[in-house]
Amino acid sequence: MSTLLISHPAFLAHDTGPHHPERPERLRAVMAALDDAAFAGLERMAAPTATLEQLMRVHPRNYVETILGIRPPDGERVMIDGDTVMSAGSAEAALRAAGAVVAGVDAVLEGRVASAFAAVRPPGHHATPDIPGGFCLFNNVAIGARHAQARYGVERVAILDFDVHHGQGTQAVVDPDATLFYGSTHQFPLYPGTGSAREHGIDGNVVNVPLGPDSGSAQFRAAWSERILPQLDRFAPDLLIVSAGFDGHKRDPLAQLELETEDFRWITDELLSLAARHARGRVVSALEGGYDLEALAEATAAHVGSLMRV
Ligand SMILES: [Zn+2]
Repeated sequence: MSTLLISHPAFLAHDTGPHHPERPERLRAVMAALDDAAFAGLERMAAPTATLEQLMRVHPRNYVETILGIRPPDGERVMIDGDTVMSAGSAEAALRAAGAVVAGVDAVLEGRVASAFAAVRPPGHHATPDIPGGFCLFNNVAIGARHAQARYGVERVAILDFDVHHGQGTQAVVDPDATLFYGSTHQFPLYPGTGSAREHGIDGNVVNVPLGPDSGSAQFRAAWSERILPQLDRFAPDLLIVSAGFDGHKRDPLAQLELETEDFRWITDELLSLAARHARGRVVSALEGGYDLEALAEATAAHVGSLMRV
């Protein structure tokens, strides 16, 4: 079975302004990399907009309406916080970013494809149910997880986050709910300052492995092999959702985890084999961070290549 790539030109119209690291060129770099002949086997679809019902499985109605109500005139921008920006096109981009993950969940759970990659922006893992931030508006992966449970009756969903930042927004959703699992490696100290190894959720359904700057491949792989994957194995997920951030790459300007491109292929391979054991191979991945265009393109290609098993 094939892999589905979900994206949309509307993601380019989320204009964060000059000098912002989370910029439209990121998505252009990702899509250019996936235009290579090696990815001709990808199925492709345009990201739909998420529905209010889908968004409200994670975010309260007044939060959703507030975000969607921020529609500055063309060429103008609204600062949501110190580093989160909305332009005229941002509300639609945010709707389609969440909708892309939902569409990936649909495609995988209906058995149309084995796996899906949502090439989206804005990213989502820093958005808590009621606070946007860290470039994120809606929590795309949490919305996908809740959709799988509500629409398909999937019992246990795991969200695995190898972005260099801790997804405190996702953890806020998972923390009180033993049907969800959240595993994350992240550089510490670094924004947002959360993700202590002491945070265990309910019965270990949250596994955080903070890594110091300059940790590199060996410590990253050991964190997953020795800490997160064994706990994930015990959780026995029915579906895996990946917060695929590539800002742990050694070229990334926002962090210093010093990972290699091949580390992203490795972790994807590991997650796929765990998915094969527990979840009939079902994996839905969504783009989070990654701010060096060349590293982002290369690491995304490695990740999606692994999903396609090429
Ligand atoms: Zn990040």
